[in-house]
Amino acid sequence: MVIDAMADERVGAPLRTVTDAQQMAEHVAAGGSPFDYVAAPDWFSYSSFDTFERCPRQYALRYLCRLQTERPRPAADFGSAAHAAFQSFTRQRRERLARAEQPPDKADLDRYFELAWASSSLPGEVDAEAWRERAGSMLDRFWETESSTAVETIGEETRFRLRLKLDPNTSVAVGGFIDRIDRLPSGAVELIDYKTGAASSAQSAESSLQLSIYALGCRDALGLGRPERVTLDFVEHGLRVSAERSDGALDNVSDGLTLRAREVRGSGFAPTPSSRACGWCDFSAMCAVAEA
Ligand code: SF4
Repeated sequence: MVIDAMADERVGAPLRTVTDAQQMAEHVAAGGSPFDYVAAPDWFSYSSFDTFERCPRQYALRYLCRLQTERPRPAADFGSAAHAAFQSFTRQRRERLARAEQPPDKADLDRYFELAWASSSLPGEVDAEAWRERAGSMLDRFWETESSTAVETIGEETRFRLRLKLDPNTSVAVGGFIDRIDRLPSGAVELIDYKTGAASSAQSAESSLQLSIYALGCRDALGLGRPERVTLDFVEHGLRVSAERSDGALDNVSDGLTLRAREVRGSGFAPTPSSRACGWCDFSAMCAVAEA
């Protein structure tokens, strides 16, 4: 089974009744309610829940006001280029093998990365050479793993959309994109999330809400059943850490998401400044309580 990714389709969108995001953002940054401008959100993602947990006001500015920022993000661009290269590689491998052709080799993998690199901001970065070196060893490691194991990848950047009922009249969606789905010898699937940057412990796969949401989406929205395992692939380190999710655990995750969605919809979006939240916040320049 091959799953079509719909990478260009975003999961829902909050209802906007104003076109001036800046005006709405200033209202929210001054303590006003975003619901003076837009309806309560009816879609969520792991990232949106994570942002809300870090700082509700940051969530409102990003997901409800949808304020665009120009802040350079080389680490994010590097991650995006890596994801694009890996996804091209596994997709090409599947498609070429289906046509009884030679699968892509290391030169193809490098070329896929080059294409993504060229269309990113990375070539213009002052430390572009350092990023290039990181890319070189990352691609070597990825190739080593892929060329030494026989796996069947059935989906890249696979979109899912879960529906959660908050009350008899209200339901919301939780959506996302699963980096990679492999079919295992047992017939079940493995969900893989690629991570660039520092590796974390095996415990991170056990406790990852992101992986739990993907497993729930796999079981309840994609019809692929409960995944046999969920995996964080720290691609710069050649390290994979995996965990399992029971049906009971996924049912609990579903209940937890319902609670989180209710909390966001009822929030006053008060800021919760901290060095962790504000250090990465795109809106610190307009926030009176930003922590240095
Ligand atoms: S600067 Fe800090 S307190 Fe202000 S919105 Fe951003 S994360 Fe929240």
